[in-house]
Amino acid sequence: QNVLLTGGTGFIGKYLTDVLIEAGFSVSVLSRSDKKDSARITYYKWDIKKNYIDKNAILNADYIIHLAGEGIVEKRWTKRRKKAIIESRVRPVEMIYSVLEMNNKKLEAFISASGIGIYGAVTSHKICTENTPPADDFLGITCQKWESAADKISSLNIRTVKIRTGIVLGKNEGFLKKMIPTFKSGFGAVLGSGKQYLPWIHVEDLCQIYLKSIEDNQLEGAYNACITDNTTNARFSKTMAKLYDYSIWLPKVPPFVLKILLGQMSVAVLTGQRVSSEKIQKTGFEFQFTDLEKTLINCIK
Ligand code: NDP
Repeated sequence: QNVLLTGGTGFIGKYLTDVLIEAGFSVSVLSRSDKKDSARITYYKWDIKKNYIDKNAILNADYIIHLAGEGIVEKRWTKRRKKAIIESRVRPVEMIYSVLEMNNKKLEAFISASGIGIYGAVTSHKICTENTPPADDFLGITCQKWESAADKISSLNIRTVKIRTGIVLGKNEGFLKKMIPTFKSGFGAVLGSGKQYLPWIHVEDLCQIYLKSIEDNQLEGAYNACITDNTTNARFSKTMAKLYDYSIWLPKVPPFVLKILLGQMSVAVLTGQRVSSEKIQKTGFEFQFTDLEKTLINCIK
């Protein structure tokens, strides 16, 4: 059976490709750039701005996993950037929906990435579950629009799963790719008060959640994907510093500096969510990486 990945060329997509192939699926990828098929992957092209999609990508798929989207914390959140962040997640789903509907094409399942940012810039200790109402700040609204687009696909009688993802840790990729050089050069710091929660997940566990979403047809709706170990920004930074053999005392970067440096995007580092992963665990899913220090050692060393 074929799994089509949108955004399959990115950090999570590349890992997921290996996991899916290992599990016996064929993998195809929808990408904005021209790529030559390899022995492992069939590539299809789309151009979201021009509303172009190679519909064969959809017609040949049994499952679709939607990972595509502009990096959320890559650049300052200008008005234009915010629009691009939302549109690059929502428009692709609308385009997929049109092909499915026009061709009366059925899928086994449509699975979309989403983020724990749906719960908003939380500063309290409350634990967010999948039933917690979404927030009306930028990330909350982005995730709601992203998920609503996916929900429209479920109206075609297609099982739809939304993976509300925490910060993904992997070898020199994603979040750690940004953090490692700072800590390696001894400039690691606690951001703001350091008390904000930082829910994380190892990329291998995340890929296993995607695989389970495909293989277990009981999964439907939203699932949080992160470890509920109450990691805060301070704990994360201190663990990183320890791995690079320097002081457990770290300087703090005051909120106003981060606000100057990052603009509105500073909420992404100054606030965080405490998130429950009970729902996915109740489906029988077991996380392999549950200890922050061991996970960071796995990713860094
Ligand atoms: P990456 O940025 O590594 O990859 C995303 C892919 O999306 C790119 O490879 C690119 O593929 C495609 N893409 C980028 N911009 C656009 C655009 N404007 N229009 C259409 N496609 C675009 O992301 P990750 O693998 O880290 O994340 C995958 C998904 O999971 C994202 O939606 C992300 O928001 C979400 N997520 C990730 C987290 C993390 O910590 N990594 C945390 C929470 C959620 P191509 O160039 O081939 O078109």
